[in-house]
Amino acid sequence: MRLRNKPWAKEKISAYPQYVVPNPEQYKGKWHELFGNHHPIHIEIGTGKGQFITGMAKENPEINYIGIELYESVIVSALDKLIENDLPNLRLLNVNAKDLASFFENGEVERIYLNFSDPWPKKRHEKRRLTHHSFLELYEQILISEGEIHFKTDNQGLFEYSLMSFSQYGLLLTYVSLDLHHSDFSGNMMTEYEEKFAAKGNRIYRCEVKYRA
Ligand code: SAM
Repeated sequence: MRLRNKPWAKEKISAYPQYVVPNPEQYKGKWHELFGNHHPIHIEIGTGKGQFITGMAKENPEINYIGIELYESVIVSALDKLIENDLPNLRLLNVNAKDLASFFENGEVERIYLNFSDPWPKKRHEKRRLTHHSFLELYEQILISEGEIHFKTDNQGLFEYSLMSFSQYGLLLTYVSLDLHHSDFSGNMMTEYEEKFAAKGNRIYRCEVKYRA
């Protein structure tokens, strides 16, 4: 993701605490209180500019969504979409996914979406990949029993690495497509990166995995 310097982003984010939750630690184990219901919680890690998560929240009012994005300059575009749509079932967190356990209680999340995660192709950066063993451990902690990860990318190397990582961890593969846009999968919600890469003719890979009970 190319980062543009947006010195005003921090200020804008703090002006909307009802959308970008300022102290997410305080909701650990209590997200249902913030949403005002007990609907399942689905999170997206690396939300980027937010097209996927706002689209999903609009389509599925019975699910609570939380979009997690590290960079202020990026999440501010997701915030704009949320301001425009005012969705009661969507919140954003401007945090690093490595700290997920500080924000979610064990078993508080039902599903994790990873869309077009940074590939970190160099071997020495393997630990930064969001499908690395250490992240799978973290996800297992916050997910319900048999919780799911839905993953898509146009990066063949990252996809192959992730399938290996899921398999070595003992996750069950419940869906896989090596060419999503030419498959019979219905209801795909496009992300910004997906639109960009698909327009260039890149193939989109997608899988769903779940933790064993
Ligand atoms: N999902 C979006 C899409 O498909 O259009 C954005 C994809 S972009 C390649 C990956 C995003 O993940 C970037 O915005 C990056 O800042 C974010 N990201 C990477 N590592 C992260 C982490 N540890 N915690 C939170 N966000 C992260």
